[in-house]
Amino acid sequence: MTQDNALKIVKVEKENHDTTSIYFAGPDMERFKTRKPGQFASIRIFRDGAWSEAHPFTLSCAPGEETLRMTIKKSGAFTSTIPDIAPGTPIQCSGPYGQFCKDIGASREIVMIAGGVGITPFLSVLRHFQETGADNAILLFWANKTPDDAFAAQELEDLTQSLKLHVVHVFSRVAPAGQGAAPAFSDGRPGKISHEYGRLDQAMLLRHLVSTDASFYLCGPPSMQQAVLAELSRCGVDPGKVDKEAFISNKP
Ligand SMILES: Cc1cc2nc3c(=O)[nH]c(=O)nc-3n(C[C@H](O)[C@H](O)[C@H](O)COP(=O)(O)OP(=O)(O)OC[C@H]3O[C@@H](n4cnc5c(N)ncnc54)[C@H](O)[C@@H]3O)c2cc1C
Repeated sequence: MTQDNALKIVKVEKENHDTTSIYFAGPDMERFKTRKPGQFASIRIFRDGAWSEAHPFTLSCAPGEETLRMTIKKSGAFTSTIPDIAPGTPIQCSGPYGQFCKDIGASREIVMIAGGVGITPFLSVLRHFQETGADNAILLFWANKTPDDAFAAQELEDLTQSLKLHVVHVFSRVAPAGQGAAPAFSDGRPGKISHEYGRLDQAMLLRHLVSTDASFYLCGPPSMQQAVLAELSRCGVDPGKVDKEAFISNKP
């Protein structure tokens, strides 16, 4: 493929200090319309006269959206260049790939657990649920170091107003004195927001879990996954039944 018939970056949006969304569109988009929310794709970017190596990222938009979106956290050489990409830059995109969250719509009760940028497959699912008017009951735990890291907090709060969604923000940095688990509102809206401080452990999970028979989905760094699976097991959830995605590339 040449840079002339490639897809093009149409928008670059800073989400917070280390995370940026890129939006892109162009020819040959049909194969992305039938994808499942939560799938990923592999991109190469054309800059300085050459295509970059390929990198996988979740498609964070809903499948119904015209423009593809990826939400990318600075991690190494390639991802650190993302905030400086100019609109109009050619981009190749192969995919969609992956099975994570494949049948999530069929689960009446869903528990999503995300660490940091591991929220992206769940954003795709929630945006899809919003577009399709889904009425699944969803409990989302999102673990971050501080509130500044929770770049999609406002959108999630908005989604609680239409979806049966309860968002539990878990911040690992110590809370200011006097703050603890605090439901943010209970004014008759379908969903709600809670805040927790510390590690996502058995006690914290049990404060919010309605049932251990729900379908569980986990996306985050391997160390976080290991710790959370052990805590889920203490709650009576079979770790083997948790659908998991780790953002690990098979790079040589
Ligand atoms: C299915 C899938 C979906 C993904 N979805 C997303 C997403 O939605 N958003 C997102 O931000 N990311 C996502 N990722 C992760 C993303 O692909 C990687 O962060 C990205 O490819 C890293 O590229 P890089 O060149 O910037 O970093 P790299 O240079 O590859 O470095 C990545 C990390 O590894 C460390 N590292 C590099 N080399 C070494 C070494 N030799 N020894 C020890 N540590 C090293 C770096 O310090 C850095 O922390 C996904 C990955 C997969 C597999």
